[in-house]
Amino acid sequence: MTTSRVNSSKPIKNTHFEQVDLVIVGAGMVGLMLAAALRHAGLHIVLVERAEAEARLSLGLDCRVSAIVQGNVNILQSTGVWSHLQKLAQPMSSMRIWDGQEQGGIRFDASEIDEETLGYLVENQHLVVALKATLKESADVELLCPEAVVSVLRHKSGVEVALESGRLLKTPLIVGADGARSWLREQADIDVFSRDYEQKGIVATVKPRFGHQGTAFQRFLSTGPLALLPMHDGLCSIVWSASNKMADDLLALPDNEFLLALNLELGGVLGGIIEVGARAAFPLKAQLSKHIVRPRLALIGDAAHSIHPLAGLGVNLGLRDAMVLAQQIVDARKFDEDWGDVSVLNRYMKTRLPDVLATMVSMEALHRTFTVQLPAWITLRGLGMKAMGNAGLVKQLLMKNSTGLNLPVPRTIE
Ligand SMILES: Cc1cc2nc3c(=O)[nH]c(=O)nc-3n(C[C@H](O)[C@H](O)[C@H](O)COP(=O)(O)OP(=O)(O)OC[C@H]3O[C@@H](n4cnc5c(N)ncnc54)[C@H](O)[C@@H]3O)c2cc1C
Repeated sequence: MTTSRVNSSKPIKNTHFEQVDLVIVGAGMVGLMLAAALRHAGLHIVLVERAEAEARLSLGLDCRVSAIVQGNVNILQSTGVWSHLQKLAQPMSSMRIWDGQEQGGIRFDASEIDEETLGYLVENQHLVVALKATLKESADVELLCPEAVVSVLRHKSGVEVALESGRLLKTPLIVGADGARSWLREQADIDVFSRDYEQKGIVATVKPRFGHQGTAFQRFLSTGPLALLPMHDGLCSIVWSASNKMADDLLALPDNEFLLALNLELGGVLGGIIEVGARAAFPLKAQLSKHIVRPRLALIGDAAHSIHPLAGLGVNLGLRDAMVLAQQIVDARKFDEDWGDVSVLNRYMKTRLPDVLATMVSMEALHRTFTVQLPAWITLRGLGMKAMGNAGLVKQLLMKNSTGLNLPVPRTIE
């Protein structure tokens, strides 16, 4: 028997283990999505979350928001989550991108790809609440919160999991959905490739003078991208990436001076920004786990990979991880396969890697494209953006890519 200990505690002896079908560590948006996708699969699922997520309010909205691309809205619809979220989601019908030099600039309209929207903006807390509401439809999913895993022992035949409450579980598979600083990944001795941007993303809700009409704005400054995203009641959310020092300075400014700095960079779009709510900042890192699966262990969402938020695609990747893993588990069960076996988990990994790697590479390329400040490069970049703005087919392809509409539509989980 090969035993892989995932923590330093001793094996648990002479105790009774309760057999379950799946343990998920972390009930953020991605862990909840996996459980929601599997809620009617007839599996006993235990979801362990260490703390109820607190919303950080800014002008009454959660300052953490996510742009959910249209391809992933289709996933949320097919899993029944969307019906709990739709009323709270703000459609985004167009996007305007320009750079720090005022050269060129592109506008994307959903109508150019025959869609009504490019995607939707949702408050993270609303997506979490919608996913939890979906889980209530099933008695097969146990959401334990607050709860912690204190030890994990991976054997050839299954995983033994000890919870802080004293409960002991045995499962064929444990999934790490516990975020970028994944405890499970660390305890399994899985290292990461990491790129520290030495930047922070400042987030806040702001009020523009005029209505946003469902348009998102993104300006690529030499110091980092600044996004203005449409939300409810005419409000917008900002994600302003800047060096750690600059971000700290911006955070320390009184509201009126912060508004001045913000309006200077946004150049008066929407008639100027007239109010800002509480600000928060998050360190920005790109990270890829060196192993996404191990025998009886799989990583999903930020535990497997995290990216710069400049295109707002992080949780979008995670939602697709959750769907693909759910499909592999259901298929394995149908064909009497052990879904914790690494051969099944490798199918999940191989399906997901091309999407994850392509997104990571394009985020890095985009970041470099807009941070290089050589004069010749700036001219070239401006010309490139102008050309793209005029090239219908290239632009359509880019839009299909960034909205996830060219990805295979995941099968419904039954
Ligand atoms: C400024 C900023 C803006 C962003 N904007 C966007 C956007 O517009 N669109 C987009 O797609 N993405 C965006 N992202 C990325 C997105 O927020 C993440 O990709 C997403 O939150 C990852 O979800 P997750 O569920 O994998 O991890 P997390 O959201 O980190 O959730 C992990 C969960 O696991 C729990 N947990 C952790 N450790 C343990 C443990 N030991 N035991 C039990 N539970 C545990 C945590 O409490 C948490 O609930 C942005 C990120 C930043 C920083």
